[in-house]
Amino acid sequence: MELAARIEKLGTETAFAVSAEANLFQRQGHRVYPFHLGDINLRTPDNIIEAAYRAMREGKTGYAPNAGLPELREALAEDVNKSHGTHYTYKNVAIQPGGKPVISKFIQALMDPGTEVLYPNPGYPIYESQIEFHGGVAVPYGFLRGETNFRLDLDSLEKKITRRTKLLILNDLHNPTGAEADPEELERIAELVRTHDLSVLCDEAYFDIRYEGTSRSLASLPEMEERCVLLYTFSKKYAMTGWRLGAAIGPEHVIDTISKLSLNDESCTNHFVQIAGVEALRGDQSGSKRILSTLKERRDVAVSILKQIPGVTCYTPHATFYLYPDVTELMQRKGFTEYEPFRRDVLHKTGVSFCTRLHFGRALPGEERKYIRLAYSGIDGEVIQEALERFKQYAVEY
Ligand code: PLP
Repeated sequence: MELAARIEKLGTETAFAVSAEANLFQRQGHRVYPFHLGDINLRTPDNIIEAAYRAMREGKTGYAPNAGLPELREALAEDVNKSHGTHYTYKNVAIQPGGKPVISKFIQALMDPGTEVLYPNPGYPIYESQIEFHGGVAVPYGFLRGETNFRLDLDSLEKKITRRTKLLILNDLHNPTGAEADPEELERIAELVRTHDLSVLCDEAYFDIRYEGTSRSLASLPEMEERCVLLYTFSKKYAMTGWRLGAAIGPEHVIDTISKLSLNDESCTNHFVQIAGVEALRGDQSGSKRILSTLKERRDVAVSILKQIPGVTCYTPHATFYLYPDVTELMQRKGFTEYEPFRRDVLHKTGVSFCTRLHFGRALPGEERKYIRLAYSGIDGEVIQEALERFKQYAVEY
């Protein structure tokens, strides 16, 4: 069978290739420390699991409405209004099997072929894949090193806006860098959105994975509610990555279109999983608080060791469960100019497996520093300590 020509344009998450390589190395009898995938090795809180069991036993196993159960749509609108100061009702919410489907549905709903779409690079690789697969022009914008964290390169973003730019993808609380916009930067983004009449996908997958301070959303700013679609997910906050539960939240006509795409695609999101989602939002929150405090402990262990490694510098992001250390000097000292041989060398000598900058898009012109990404959500604190001590040992050996 000959595949359709457009399949050539479909990208992938190359982090899964790192995962396959690490698993093979492990099967060969080696110890592997999996910092490469953003999965969570913590249990979904019991009250959510119990709610799913109960719903199944009560026969909630048939089709659900294609936009989602009204009670979950309503609970989510209420929850987001509380944190965002927005005015959503259930009509502004389309329940999805995960946050990820919101990316392709947003693009299908709002992007005509040839439209230019601004997206973060480094960034979640699915943006570029979906823009190009659906015939758009993917226009990358980058990040700068700030005093205490990475920040969006807003000057370069502004320069890239043309007459054909219609959409902006914003992943504030950013995978992989942990960057977040401050209030002035958000104001400036809102101004660009108004001036150039843009529609925005606010990928807020990490909105609630925050250890200090308060998360902010572009949608909270004047006139932004009607220009933003929020990507919401239960995956991270409630450790529900495999349950597949998320939502698109935005203007009613876009949400209706996204629901129509769902009707054509998966019909609906799993019925009893949605009932568990209502429990997640409205029930006891102690489970999600425990998840967050465990992740914070892991962040602190990981950052404290990385900061001791010669040739490595690392910020302490206040949100997400990723670290994006600069390893330029370490690579130079070890004689590496390319990422892949360095990544493999570390894997084979220490068992520490991570992604590099290249797993988050093609490097932009002028990019000279070298970065790796460590996800600490899938490894216990003491194992993080053991792994990064090994990495430190590797770094100090000439
Ligand atoms: N957006 C970003 C930036 C992510 O990192 C992820 C997952 O890692 C997602 C969206 C999608 O997550 P999910 O489909 O599990 O909700």
